[in-house]
Amino acid sequence: MTDSSAIKGGQPNEPGTAEKSVSRRSLLRIIGTLAGSTAMYSAMTEMGFAQESGYAGPPKLSAPPPGTSVLILGAGIAGMVAALELRDAGYKVQILEYQSRPGGRNWSLYGGDSFVELGGAKQEVKFDPGQYLNPGPSRLPYHHYGILHYADRLNVAVEPFTQVNYNAYVHNTEANGGKPKRYREVQADFHGHVAELLGKSIKQSALDQDVTKEDREILLEALRGWGALDNNMKYVKGRATSNRRGPVVDDGGGVNSLPTYSEPDTLSTVLNSNMWRSIGESHEYEMQTSIFQPKGGMGQIGVAFGRELAALIKYNCKVIDIHQDDHGVTATYVDSRTGGPPRKASADWCICTIPATILSQLPMNVSAKKKAAINGVKYTARVRIGLQMKRRFWERDERIYGGLTYTNQPNAVIGYPMSDYFSKGKGTLLGADVFGMDALNFTAKPPEQRIADALEYGEKIHPGQYKSNYECGVAIAWHRVPWMLGGNSNWSEDDRAVYYDDLCALDGRIVLAGEHASRIPGWQEGAVTSVTDAITRLHAKVMGG
Ligand SMILES: Cc1cc2nc3c(=O)[nH]c(=O)nc-3n(C[C@H](O)[C@H](O)[C@H](O)COP(=O)(O)OP(=O)(O)OC[C@H]3O[C@@H](n4cnc5c(N)ncnc54)[C@H](O)[C@@H]3O)c2cc1C
Repeated sequence: MTDSSAIKGGQPNEPGTAEKSVSRRSLLRIIGTLAGSTAMYSAMTEMGFAQESGYAGPPKLSAPPPGTSVLILGAGIAGMVAALELRDAGYKVQILEYQSRPGGRNWSLYGGDSFVELGGAKQEVKFDPGQYLNPGPSRLPYHHYGILHYADRLNVAVEPFTQVNYNAYVHNTEANGGKPKRYREVQADFHGHVAELLGKSIKQSALDQDVTKEDREILLEALRGWGALDNNMKYVKGRATSNRRGPVVDDGGGVNSLPTYSEPDTLSTVLNSNMWRSIGESHEYEMQTSIFQPKGGMGQIGVAFGRELAALIKYNCKVIDIHQDDHGVTATYVDSRTGGPPRKASADWCICTIPATILSQLPMNVSAKKKAAINGVKYTARVRIGLQMKRRFWERDERIYGGLTYTNQPNAVIGYPMSDYFSKGKGTLLGADVFGMDALNFTAKPPEQRIADALEYGEKIHPGQYKSNYECGVAIAWHRVPWMLGGNSNWSEDDRAVYYDDLCALDGRIVLAGEHASRIPGWQEGAVTSVTDAITRLHAKVMGG
């Protein structure tokens, strides 16, 4: 999960100046962005995206006093982890959920589903059997131990998620005549030229302050290997560079089997293409292999939780008021489909996992500090679009099996299906995964226009195939999702300093939990770690702590 606006945030070089005037300072700046884009990393860290999970296993809860009850609001990952653990410990548990399905943002859309967004636009999903879109989460990084623990516990089968595909594309409408380049070409050329420049600087003793004489030779050797340089420390056309960026014609067998090596782009072309901006994402902690996805869609985790907790979840309940007193907590709710008379559910304690976007609009008698904290949580805009194609042309014609293509167009990426490779059947592309202003612009359009725009953008990358193979699609703009009103919480360090502790603190008989009450926002792991901590603290209070 990354904010593409952060990737676009750096300063491009002035056209035509880069190769001639690479000073030591700008060289170091390039190295700073090398392979990982430090600017993007710090932006992501600020948003809490590059944090390690603090998950240390499920909570160990002793048996509560007989009959102790907990009302849980929301059947997303946080709410259902709470229900599972508290039920197992011996609590009397009930969940009230707005929707008619479990999972919350853990959600996959299949053929036959329909979705009405705020404003009334209804989308009927017409995907074929086996096709789906994850409008929300799609990745499970290997170090998200909490969510992986529950996938394992609930027997949800997972398969690899391909984050980087060297044969997918990087595309920039302003570079290479608007044609995409293969990821491997962009990365190899960027690394190669930087290695060559750095090698030159070392030989000219320009970096003597930073590199000891003893380390010089080691660094030169490392750069030669890392950048695919020749024996003269040059990044030039030949076997070594084609081994990285790919040849024009591969080695073959028998006669006429010589390869044709490819010509690397010049440093100036590489820098001014701005394509290097797209090759850093996969170095981020959350994007490093191994990454997994549940077979058949991320929503399978929510479905499995829902099956396990069927007796405890009351669906189609829109909570409209939360009230606590010395004896317990009462939630007032109406039928989310039909309205009707308000009803009430009560318990000794309450775990509320309703997103802050919605909770901030509900009457609830908590402290002024807690209210301020709920109001203080900001959310990102997100849009995801799924496009079913009648033919897997990216595999059949372009040898792209899974992974992502990056573009500077507003759709930001094209994601290729990461299963059923070589299938002769259909495939569903992620046609857009958008943050920030681009997401708000998409959100302002009706769903069919969002899809039409995504098709136009895709056609520039896969000309002649994208629009002609398109069959049906669905476009989810998270600010228009009635039970969410946003993508994910988006914390700045300043906001955290003011609000975070108040948000997480127990308030009488109520505790809040969910991704917004974690330091891993925008990830299901945030929901798991947040609620694990919340129920541990609540249990301690129940037990008289
Ligand atoms: C586009 C996108 C991409 C993402 N990508 C990833 C990813 O790759 N990997 C990853 O791990 N995470 C990802 N995430 C984040 C992940 O989806 C969330 O962090 C996680 O699902 C949040 O779980 P939760 O239980 O805190 O909240 P939710 O899932 O939002 O659950 C809250 C529940 O409250 C219910 N509710 C709302 N209002 C009411 C009401 N008034 N009354 C009763 N119930 C109500 C909702 O219906 C919902 O079921 C992504 C999210 C988005 C939007």
